[in-house]
Amino acid sequence: MAQVVKRAYKYRFYPTPGQADVLARTFGCVRLVYNKALEDRTRAYRVEGRRVSYGESSAALTAWKRTQELAFLNEVSSVPLQQALRHLQAGFVNFFTKRAGFPTFKSRKKSRLSAEYTRSAFRWRDGTLTLAKMDGPLDIVWSRPLPEGAEPSTVTVSKDAAGRWFVSILVEEKITPLAPAENVVGVDARITSLLTLSRPIDGVTDAHGTVANPRHEPAERRRLARAQRALARKGKGSANRVKARRRVARVYARITDRRRDFLHKVTTRLVRENQVIAVEDLTIRTMVKNRTLARAISDASWRELRSMLEYKARWYGREVVVVDRWFPFSKLCSACGTLAESMPLSVREWVCACGAVHDRDVNAARNILAAGLAER
Ligand SMILES: [Zn+2]
Repeated sequence: MAQVVKRAYKYRFYPTPGQADVLARTFGCVRLVYNKALEDRTRAYRVEGRRVSYGESSAALTAWKRTQELAFLNEVSSVPLQQALRHLQAGFVNFFTKRAGFPTFKSRKKSRLSAEYTRSAFRWRDGTLTLAKMDGPLDIVWSRPLPEGAEPSTVTVSKDAAGRWFVSILVEEKITPLAPAENVVGVDARITSLLTLSRPIDGVTDAHGTVANPRHEPAERRRLARAQRALARKGKGSANRVKARRRVARVYARITDRRRDFLHKVTTRLVRENQVIAVEDLTIRTMVKNRTLARAISDASWRELRSMLEYKARWYGREVVVVDRWFPFSKLCSACGTLAESMPLSVREWVCACGAVHDRDVNAARNILAAGLAER
């Protein structure tokens, strides 16, 4: 049975100087409104022990717009400002239900520059997108088509630390689950390579079952480390520091973009070809402190990989099982169940007393699969 899912399509775009100006001001107003409303809510909560509703925040916004010093809020579309209040409301709901910490202020330097437009604040016609208070349609690079007949419901414009502009278009899409698959697979997260599977998949892994990191990545990482060292040498507040920071952001953005494409390819194949996908809960493993750059990148991609697996599995009628207890999976013989005594990281291949010859990671992936299947 087909289901309707909301799906975001993200593209780069190149604003005209006029559009860039309106957007920069919109980002500033979004941050200001968010922070002001947060301040009010924080005071109400901490001082009066009272919860502020979305309606109250919205009424406050209307009042701010009438004052002389905040009249400039009227110059940008009101929808992104309202959306900022909605996000803040969601943040407080999460806080009150203990799903998240107390909402924090958006800082000028570190917060994400973005503005969200709902249906009433943009026009979508003949494949062109025009935002409210803008002189013309956005010049979008359509790197892949929107689904046929798609009607955007929300449009989010953002600018990253590398200075690139993006528009993310949310559409409703009909997705038909795939026919059941016979295979099942276990996934072992790695640091040096990306991951290892319990069995090789053609075109995704090598002959053993290992998925290597995207090519070019070691060189990019070296470039990133170099850019970070250069940034550390620049004096605080200097113009060169701004440039150096942007250089770091650009290299990092390149790495994460390429990774994301790669993760999409891998997860699509895994979900297409397997009915059950067993993964390890990595929050357990990250207790082992390892603050290297490689580790940070690999943790980030592992989180992203897992979330991709989970939503794609939901779309296509597959099952992701998370093995959430710690176990020395690489030391357990997946053939006979004997636990090997010690297994230094340098051991890549070992022979069990039962005669089974194991690739360390493939063996771990097989054990994760078995544990996942047992947990269902
Ligand atoms: Zn054995």
